[in-house]
Amino acid sequence: MKQDYAVIGLGRFGGSVCRELSMEGMDVLAIDIDEEKVNEFKNIASYAVIADSTDEATLKELGIKNIDHVIVSIGDNIQASILTTVILTDLEIKKITVKAQSDYHEKILNKIGADQVVHPERDMGKRIAHSVISNNILDYLELSDEHSIVEVKAGKKMQGKTLVDLDIRANYGCNVVAIKQENEINVSPSADEVLREDDILIVIGADKDISRFEKHLVMDHA
Ligand code: ATP
Repeated sequence: MKQDYAVIGLGRFGGSVCRELSMEGMDVLAIDIDEEKVNEFKNIASYAVIADSTDEATLKELGIKNIDHVIVSIGDNIQASILTTVILTDLEIKKITVKAQSDYHEKILNKIGADQVVHPERDMGKRIAHSVISNNILDYLELSDEHSIVEVKAGKKMQGKTLVDLDIRANYGCNVVAIKQENEINVSPSADEVLREDDILIVIGADKDISRFEKHLVMDHA
């Protein structure tokens, strides 16, 4: 279903969200206080306007209330980011996603009613850290403060073994939710499936359990 989006703040992150949504054929209202930024998005977004998002009357005039999902990407000016979010929650926007600059900023945004708070620098940092620990860790996605999903290559340690042999649930408290084999994804892997070195396992669990699983079964030199 096609939705209407607004992106407030067209820096690197907001700009990239705006570009991608537009490329996917979505209607995007792009807003920035800086004329140069707005000009950059004139031919990309459906509408690009110069406006100060901390001004409630201006946001109302722009018809922000009719927009399904607003993404706020004002990083450096935390005060403007918070004020904009408060105005959007007051206007009862259906979904508000806000980029946080720090953990403290994130806490405040959650308290004042942002539906989704993203912290791209921190999250990307975590993903990179996990992927550099081992060549076999392909991706790492945080689900909550305590749970994550990790995508790992079976590698030499799991090669030739079945899920029963490895008993990942009993040994590490994690669940293998899917196995990717070449172009196929098996979403209900059977316990006696023999793993090959290049198979990719999608594993879900608590961070501390995933960490033990990575150390014992995934890292090359553990
Ligand atoms: P990046 O995503 O590039 O890392 P950032 O998160 O550091 O950027 P900023 O550069 O602080 O973000 O701000 C992003 C954009 O938000 C800038 O283009 C800035 O002009 C715009 N902006 C700042 N305050 C307001 C405001 N009150 N109303 C609208 N846009 C604003």
